[in-house]
This record gives sequence, C-alpha cells and structure tokens, in this order.
Amino acid sequence: MPATPPGDAVPRLLEWFAAEGADLPWRRTRDRYAVLVAEVQLQSTQVARVIPYFEAWMERWPTARSLADAPLGEVLTLWHGLGYPRRARNLQAAARVVAEHGWPERLTDLPGVGPYTAAAIRCFADGEAVIPVDTNVERILSRRFPEGWPGTPDGQGWAVGQALMDLGRLWCTARAPGCDGGCPLREGCPAADAGAVEERTPRKRPQGRYEGSMRQRRGVLLGRLAQDRRVPVSVDPDAAEALLADGLAAREGADLVPVS
Ligand code: SF4
Repeated sequence: MPATPPGDAVPRLLEWFAAEGADLPWRRTRDRYAVLVAEVQLQSTQVARVIPYFEAWMERWPTARSLADAPLGEVLTLWHGLGYPRRARNLQAAARVVAEHGWPERLTDLPGVGPYTAAAIRCFADGEAVIPVDTNVERILSRRFPEGWPGTPDGQGWAVGQALMDLGRLWCTARAPGCDGGCPLREGCPAADAGAVEERTPRKRPQGRYEGSMRQRRGVLLGRLAQDRRVPVSVDPDAAEALLADGLAAREGADLVPVS
C-alpha cells in the first residue's frame, strides 16, 4: 500500500460522503432545536428506529416554544418506545429554558446536554469545525487517525461531522469493520495496515442485562400508562416508585397517572 499524506484522508472522506452520505431528516435542517431533538433521540437508539419518532416529534412540536408548552405526559407518550424516558423530560426542560431565555452561551448549561450534544449542536446546526465525539467517532479516531485529527477544511465542519457518523455506522463498525470490503478510508489506514484494528478499538463499558432489569420494568409500566392512562401502583410497586421519583408519572390514590 503506498504511503499517503495523512491530510488526504479528509478530502476522501468528504468526497465519499457527498456521493453516498445517507439522506436523514435531521440532515435537512440547521435549526438548533431540531438538531437537539435528533441528537437526544439518537443517544442509545439506532438511526432507523429514530427516523419515525423524529418526524412525528417535529410535526407535533416544531419549535422549542411548542415543546415547552406541551404537557409532560403527552411528551412521554410520544417518546414511548425510544427508551430512557428521562431523555424526554430533559429535552422538554431544555426547550423551556430556550423558550424563556434563548440559547445559553454554554450549551452544557441546558438540562440533559453534555459535551457531546453541545458539540453536535455547534457542528450540525452552527456548522462549526467541531467534531462531536461519540463512541463511533472515538473508534474511527483511534483506528484511522491515531496521530490526531489532520484538520477540517474551511466551511466543512458540518460535512465532516456527518461523514464521520456514517463512516462509523457503515464501515468502521465495532464488530465487523469493512476494512477490505470497500471502506473509503482504507488507503493509509494505520490500524488496518498493521493488522491491529481489534486492538486499536476502544473498549466499551459492559452494559448490564436488560431482561428483567429495572429499566425494562419501568419501560413496561410507562408503556401501559401511555396506553391506558391509569395503572395500579400494585402492578409493580418498585418500578412505580422509580417513575414517581424521577417525575415521569404522577400518583392518584392507588394508581399511577400521566404527569401533566
Ligand atoms: S480501514 Fe478499517 S479500521 Fe481503517 S477506517 Fe476503514 S474500517 Fe476503519
């Protein structure tokens, strides 16, 4: 494999993305609120699953103000099926801050917005040359750019960020990277050249089992609540307690009811 200057990889990445990048609904907007919604929904949920939720959400609440004014129970109902409902509550809390006070200078001051989501807003809404580093991008940087990121060409912040998302999802995957199956950055890839892709893959923190977990039990209860609007606490008192403590459900007598 001939040596290639490290800087070549970025133009190749951009060229590949321009030709083959996925057409996703949140890529058709540069609106900060829409990007925030997409990024929060995409945390821990796969792209294909998020698409219908994102579209339904934006149709129902197209602005931070409209989401801020919605009853939380309705927000949780539309969220149901995406998992981790605290994300929905935080998203609404963030929308309320934005609707009342505008976007804070430090985006991480918003509820539920950590460094990754803040970087994603700056990159995908504002077009800044900031790379949002999630586990996929961290993996690419470790395998393909161990010497550090060679630099983002002027005006290409958005495209670089989106291209890295696609590369991590489609080619430079955790378990079955397509190094010799057509990866657009194969030429000059230090990890693949050294036959060391596996060992240059950052280790993921092991996740606990979902089956039978409190997370699953809370999800089941919230699902019933979304459907029936009233569920006896006695169905699963511990899960009900956890939902009440997180403000994701309210109590009326012996029943759980949606929060308003
Ligand atoms: S060649 Fe393999 S390790 Fe290198 S960027 Fe492509 S998929 Fe990732």
